Amino acid sequence: MRIVQKFGGSSLADGERIHRAAERVIRAAQEGNQVVVVVSAQGDTTDHLISAASDISAAPSKRELDSYLATGEQMSACLMAMAIQAMGHPAISLTGWQAGLMTDGNYGDARVLRLSGDRIGRELAAGKIVVVTGFQGVSSAGDIVTLGRGGSDTTAVALAAFLGADKCQIYTDVDGVYDRDPRKFSDAVRLDTIGYDDMLRLARQGAQVLHDRCVELAKEHDVKIQVLSSFRPGPGTMVTALP
Ligand code: ASP
Ligand code: MG
Repeated sequence: MRIVQKFGGSSLADGERIHRAAERVIRAAQEGNQVVVVVSAQGDTTDHLISAASDISAAPSKRELDSYLATGEQMSACLMAMAIQAMGHPAISLTGWQAGLMTDGNYGDARVLRLSGDRIGRELAAGKIVVVTGFQGVSSAGDIVTLGRGGSDTTAVALAAFLGADKCQIYTDVDGVYDRDPRKFSDAVRLDTIGYDDMLRLARQGAQVLHDRCVELAKEHDVKIQVLSSFRPGPGTMVTALP
């Protein structure tokens, strides 16, 4: 099987968490799967980058800001590949442009269009775990663009769609999707499955668990998403077309 596993910033916040995620990825590869890993920037890195840019300029150019923000994911992808390699498994990190993830040129809020070339496929065929930076792609002008806050989810679903993956697992700090905000309502219930349209409604209402465009893309390409906790075992929530 071909699997995409995405890890959010809190799942990669420090070296120990990166190692734990790397172990999970290697386990999936040892079970005989081809594994593509999508990573977010570590912890609050993106917030720090935004504030560092605003210290330099009150109105940074959108092109430079996107190239700058994309470095957060680049750092975590390299660290993840190093962690996997240190555990004895071949791995390679690829940025959005190295992977061929083509987007429109809308800086800060780009849409994914397609995957160009077969770099990921070739690296998988060579037996490597392929770690791809979330949140970014390349425009037809050849510039780095970002997909909007929380956009690494969208990278994961886009790659799952374009690579024909059998599974798309999103590892996060909550153990699934709840019917209401579990931080506000103590009686909120975790859902085993949720349809694309209901998930889209929750995402648009501000549920942080999935990026809304990722759900749109999943619906369009019928990518089933499994939302899982990095920290607690459990079945999580399947986001899928409801019968
Ligand atoms: N690092 C980016 C953000 O914080 C993208 C992501 O985490 O999905 O918005
Ligand atoms: Mg993040």
